[in-house]
Amino acid sequence: MNTHSLSKSTFVRGCNCTKSLYLYKKHSELITDIDEKQQAIFDSGHDIGRLAQELFPNGTDAKPENPSEFPLAVALTRKLMDEGCNIIYEAAFQYDGVLAATDILVRDGNNWSAYEVKGSTKVKEEYFSDTALQYYVITNSGRSLKDFSVIHLNNQYVKRGSLEVEKLFKMTSVKNEVETMQEFVKKKIIELKNIIQLNEVPKIKIRSYCRDPYECEFIDHCWDHIPKEHSVFTLNRIGASAFEMVEAGILTLDQIPTNYKLAKSPAFQLQYFKSGAILIEKKEISDFLGQFLYPLYFFDFETYMMAVPEFDFSRPYQQIPFQYSLHVLRSENHELEHFEFLGDGFHDPRAELIKKMIIDLGVNGSIITYNSSFEKTRLKELAEDFPQFAHPIESIINRIVDLMKPFQSRWYYHPGFEGSYSIKNVLPVLVPDLNYSSMEIQEGGTASLVYSLLRDQDSDTRIVQRKQLLDYCRLDTLAMVEILHVLRKI
Ligand code: SF4
Repeated sequence: MNTHSLSKSTFVRGCNCTKSLYLYKKHSELITDIDEKQQAIFDSGHDIGRLAQELFPNGTDAKPENPSEFPLAVALTRKLMDEGCNIIYEAAFQYDGVLAATDILVRDGNNWSAYEVKGSTKVKEEYFSDTALQYYVITNSGRSLKDFSVIHLNNQYVKRGSLEVEKLFKMTSVKNEVETMQEFVKKKIIELKNIIQLNEVPKIKIRSYCRDPYECEFIDHCWDHIPKEHSVFTLNRIGASAFEMVEAGILTLDQIPTNYKLAKSPAFQLQYFKSGAILIEKKEISDFLGQFLYPLYFFDFETYMMAVPEFDFSRPYQQIPFQYSLHVLRSENHELEHFEFLGDGFHDPRAELIKKMIIDLGVNGSIITYNSSFEKTRLKELAEDFPQFAHPIESIINRIVDLMKPFQSRWYYHPGFEGSYSIKNVLPVLVPDLNYSSMEIQEGGTASLVYSLLRDQDSDTRIVQRKQLLDYCRLDTLAMVEILHVLRKI
């Protein structure tokens, strides 16, 4: 049986970081388990791959049952190609100890065209090492390719009725790019094979490639020496300078010398960290609060995205609002009221959400959001996709004020914000009693995931998770009420 030392995924891993390749091959026990959200992203990638096969229907799948049986897939692919099969899914090839499977292989006259399916909406830079390797292995194993394309999602596609796969996907030829990379691939394979043979871990420094384009599974191991609190990486917009500091032995904010050259934003953050001072521009805050008109509506959306649109009048990766929380203060002396909406997890929640939102938000008074560009963009999309509600939605947009403004403009800055004006940083400092730590759902990403999986749960779990979603979103708007209260006291 043929064996291989590199595959498509280990080659890409090695191109990003040779240490990652070495650890993967020799110390896989150091891998950090992926979380639920990452797993959901992988699962969605598999679904997109299967859907893209419909562009070339009735193909034969060469994928082995078990990944360790890939040599059998190589033999099966060869047999299928030689026996006149026109479309092969997961076609596998091996050359010089390197194994590569291509998502879709299609006979094109006397020639073949290969297609790599990606879940993104464009061809990204990081796809080239992957596709160039496939091209290298396929062509060197004796097959010529007429074209090599990346199939990706078309973010301009709007679903109306049945899903139209020819419109959902776009194909972009990368043949010219991958051909120019063939010499690079050849040399890289030699280099990576040598790395695997080493007797000790390659000495590679931590860099931006640890998180970009993907978060490496060895971060817990390689970043072990970086303190969890007040490290130089907590400096906002610090970029590559943080790595330079680490190499100079500066790991925490208090170790940064006063004369260290920093850009404006991290320098500001460091200054307040070291002094412990709080910046308050009372006049600007007072002028800002002066524009708020009763009744005050504290409003927050939760949204989720689907790579493949499920509902009519939605696009790939469109943010679909499925929930809102609304606290209302009709006057200074009124009791706080609460309203909310949560979709059922099965149907398009938007039309029902819009109808209830229009009633709940009334016709006058300030609508207070935190980071209003997000809510405004979602509202504009709702008005576009449901034009029958465009007029009242437009009125809602015109009443929105952004509670983030005093923090973004640095009219109020506390060192505990750690350079950020996100509500998740501002709230624990201003209202320490109100926090998310005791909640099952603690941030928006988890809320989206829980909602997207709601329909797959049994009815008891669904009831529990709906309550968790409602509790989480309710806290988001209550947080705004409390933050406004703190600002007013100033
Ligand atoms: S964490 Fe960074 S240095 Fe460590 S293996 Fe991953 S990419 Fe390489």
